[in-house]
Amino acid sequence: MNNKVELSIILPVFNEEGNIVSLLKEIDEALCTRNISYEIVAVDDGSQDKSRDLLIEEYEKRSNLKVILFRKNFGQTAAFDAGFQYSSGDKIVTMDADGQNDPADIPRMLDELNRNYDFVAGWRKNRKDGTFSRNIPSKVANYLIRRITKTKIKDLGCSLKLYRREITKDLHLYGEMHRFIGVLVEGLGARVSQIEVNHRPRLMGVSKYNLNRTFKVVLDLITVWFLRSYQTKPIYVFGGAGLLTLGLSAISLGVVAYQKFFNNIWVHKNPLFIIGMILGVVSIKFIDIGL
Ligand code: UDP
Ligand code: MG
Repeated sequence: MNNKVELSIILPVFNEEGNIVSLLKEIDEALCTRNISYEIVAVDDGSQDKSRDLLIEEYEKRSNLKVILFRKNFGQTAAFDAGFQYSSGDKIVTMDADGQNDPADIPRMLDELNRNYDFVAGWRKNRKDGTFSRNIPSKVANYLIRRITKTKIKDLGCSLKLYRREITKDLHLYGEMHRFIGVLVEGLGARVSQIEVNHRPRLMGVSKYNLNRTFKVVLDLITVWFLRSYQTKPIYVFGGAGLLTLGLSAISLGVVAYQKFFNNIWVHKNPLFIIGMILGVVSIKFIDIGL
């Protein structure tokens, strides 16, 4: 299938044998009322259950399905990235393959995109995951991310998103970055909107994430904060640190000189001398990185 379509729907699949086939049907049902050409791009992220076989079976039966098979589990970010690369639609939807996102929301999102936006994020106002294991940690992580990145997007973790292709071309995804896509998209200057979407409990299989993902989020957050604020002007971060250490170095060495001439404290007996020298070298290094 090489024809260009208007819409591509990307599904990252990792051990979703109980969900994937019914989801494909639901997507067809949701889009059949719209006069829109679409393809589904299922990216199997190294599943060990029957997901791969089921996808291949569906591929034989359908004309609108592309299947990408990863050799091993590379994670959801890599799956989205591969989906972006191997899809052809001018518009792209990403959604979970476990049925928690509802394909019936896609037409409304398309309408919203047509109101002159580049990106529409789904907002799971009524999230159907465990309160303590998931909802609370996710709320804390979301709060931190929103404070630090100043994003306007209310629910960064919702996979259901709609993009214009131009935007995805400029996203360079790696690590576990898919959680920050909304922030990265805002950083690209895209016109961003968000709408409330349905969220359903997982009926089959298990969630692939747990609490320790919240810690990884915090680490990735540092990267994203940096990329978003200073990617094009690193001198503002490192230059600031460089000037600060240079100032401290000058003060220390000034004190050392004063003590030598007025207090008779010899330089080689003064630890402040070493500190001042090291700060001086560090400041040059900082400015160097910034440049
Ligand atoms: N997923 C994936 N690779 C992974 C982990 C998850 O492709 O390493 C897929 C998974 O099959 C599902 C989606 O990403 O379609 C979201 O995962 P999950 O439902 O486990 O996350 P939750 O909804 O619990 O946040
Ligand atoms: Mg899920």
